Amino acid sequence: MKISRLAALFALLAFAFNTVFAQGLPIVERCHVSYQGNVSEFENWLAGKQSFNTNNQEVYRIPVVVHVLHTGEVYGEGAHLTKAQVEAQIRILNEDFRRRPGTKGFNTHPDGGDAQIEFVLANTAPDGSPTDGVIVKDISNLPAPPPEAGNLVMYGAHYSYWNPEKYLNIWSVPGIPQDVLLGFARFPESDLPGLEDEHETSWVLPGKGEIDGVAINAFHFGDRGLQSRYNLGRTATHEVGHFLGLFHTWGPNSNDQDGCSLDDFCQDTPTISDRTSGCPVGLISCDGRPVMIENYMDYSDDACMNIFTNDQISRMRTVLKHSPRRKTLYTSPVLENPLKSPTDLASLVKIYPNPASDKVHIFFEKHKLENVQITLTDLTGQTIFSKTFEQLFEESIEVTLPRTAERMILLQVETGKLSYRQKLLVR
Ligand SMILES: [Zn+2]
Repeated sequence: MKISRLAALFALLAFAFNTVFAQGLPIVERCHVSYQGNVSEFENWLAGKQSFNTNNQEVYRIPVVVHVLHTGEVYGEGAHLTKAQVEAQIRILNEDFRRRPGTKGFNTHPDGGDAQIEFVLANTAPDGSPTDGVIVKDISNLPAPPPEAGNLVMYGAHYSYWNPEKYLNIWSVPGIPQDVLLGFARFPESDLPGLEDEHETSWVLPGKGEIDGVAINAFHFGDRGLQSRYNLGRTATHEVGHFLGLFHTWGPNSNDQDGCSLDDFCQDTPTISDRTSGCPVGLISCDGRPVMIENYMDYSDDACMNIFTNDQISRMRTVLKHSPRRKTLYTSPVLENPLKSPTDLASLVKIYPNPASDKVHIFFEKHKLENVQITLTDLTGQTIFSKTFEQLFEESIEVTLPRTAERMILLQVETGKLSYRQKLLVR
């Protein structure tokens, strides 16, 4: 069992090594992006959406589940990351995406920006129970992934995976040597006709459905004091950049053989012909501007990175707003603390006026609720109103009451396993 699991991982690594050493240089492969679609179609789709997105200042909060996969190490050793190490990675993502002052993610570059995207460990598990958003799994005695799991993201998903409509899945993957392959991300899909099939066929894992997310080599997860140039948690920043639609600063191809002819479709990232290594000073780009080695989407060292540009931010926010398995994340209810009792549920519901006359308003306060059934009955059991809502959040429902001799009606709210009833007076 163990041998076949490692064989699967070595197949993945062989893929990485081929790419790395094809150029005869011992270059670290920061990541493989998965994008195989038609670049111009994706760009046309994105350009059409971007025009709707100006001046949108909303902060998008993305619920995250981190799957810590390890091979039997004790807590805190090797790939068996601690909760604090996971939290450090989330903090770094937020420093970088929010350009937080006083952190390594801050910059004063005129083209740099605050993406207003935040990452939060999920509070609710898929079954509705409370969670801290961290899943720890010893995979050493688990069955190996099927042959369909042909990349690092699917490899991770084979062992542990939550609904990609509600969570950004991030895996910390053991068994990869440090400084070889740092991470892997799935690119977003556009909804252009003709592109969906390709994605669906290549990203479906039997029994798990469509796979999406970001995988990080456990060595390079967070800032663990690793002796490496990639030790400050910027692998995750870079991979989440891909997940939200960013290309490398030299263009969409993993191999940079296109010179200056391909770009990343962002005007404010100077076009470069090749990836950057280290933190070199004084490099000049294809168009004469200084190379932006500080950009998270280059291959420079973690220590010299601190910029997402405004054009990159515009792309990411557009993707978050429109792409499958992205646009549902910032409205996902899993950031809420789960309701534990009918009293919790009751505290969210306000009814007015009470006593009511011809109309009643039922208002749901700040908490996203899913699959909520609302029923109003009179005391004879006759239904006055009954409707199921897929999602409710700060919403007011107006119900017209029938003319009746009844002086009292009954409101019932049901969601999942919880339900509560309240009497309502009618004048
Ligand atoms: Zn990359």
